[in-house]
Amino acid sequence: MSVQREVRYGAQTSHFAFDRNVTPVAQANSGDTVLFHCQDCYDGQITHDGMDFARLDVTRTNPVTGPLYVTGAEPGDVLKVEIQRIEIADYGVMCVKDGWGICTVEGSHCRRFPIRDGKILFDGGLKLPVRPMIGVIGTAPATGTISTQTPGEHGGNMDICELGEGCTIYLPVAVSGALLSMGDIHGVQGDGESASCAMETSGRVTVRVTVQKDAMDLPTPMIETDRAYCTTAADASLDVCSVAAARKMHRWLMSRWDMTDTQAAMLLSLQGNLRISQVVNPRKGCMMELKKELLAQWKISQT
Ligand code: CA
Ligand code: CA
Repeated sequence: MSVQREVRYGAQTSHFAFDRNVTPVAQANSGDTVLFHCQDCYDGQITHDGMDFARLDVTRTNPVTGPLYVTGAEPGDVLKVEIQRIEIADYGVMCVKDGWGICTVEGSHCRRFPIRDGKILFDGGLKLPVRPMIGVIGTAPATGTISTQTPGEHGGNMDICELGEGCTIYLPVAVSGALLSMGDIHGVQGDGESASCAMETSGRVTVRVTVQKDAMDLPTPMIETDRAYCTTAADASLDVCSVAAARKMHRWLMSRWDMTDTQAAMLLSLQGNLRISQVVNPRKGCMMELKKELLAQWKISQT
């Protein structure tokens, strides 16, 4: 794959909020392949295993690289972002603290783990296979400013473990150029991200960006993997975002796949997997996952 644009990480090319007023640092055309260099979510502050937590400046968490201005993207369009490759560093870091996440821990701790040959060398001889993914990816909202700590309809701090190599994410375009940014790369993460961090790492992400016109029925932010479609939603309440994620898929099955409300509801009840993405961000996240093979088999009704 040839890269048309490259966005390096630095003070001038990173930011901490999705906002239309953040000046773009690069431009791409629809169909271009772009390489983003991303710092880890602690901005590279964890210099060694066991580093004193008190040295961590938490105001520097979740820097994202960008924004990228995609020429031709206008409000109402959808930005298709194909995640072609995620290359990660040879170590990952984690910080845990009592009160962060949903597990009670004593004190506060910063750890650094080697990554060798696709395996994270965890404690106790555990070698955990890497499954690189993007924690934060999004576009600028039409109004206001949204911290990179928070997920929402713009994408943002989604922390969805399906957001890895080979997947496609569909994001809304709310402002001219879309203003795409990303960061918070993870070596691996489980559903829930229970301790509030994943295997945090810096990385290089190669994406292809394409502007889609007339894609109004796509329920963004939506993820397509090689085997499934996933609708997503975020809210302070898990009850609210689980319902929202399911209803997005339900509506899409009716509008795009021509199912009746009853057919769509029944199919989701039988084959849809409603999953928790994360429970640790200011807004929690859920997704409804449905296998693509079912929709490949589904014959659009003939009236
Ligand atoms: Ca995150
Ligand atoms: Ca993270």
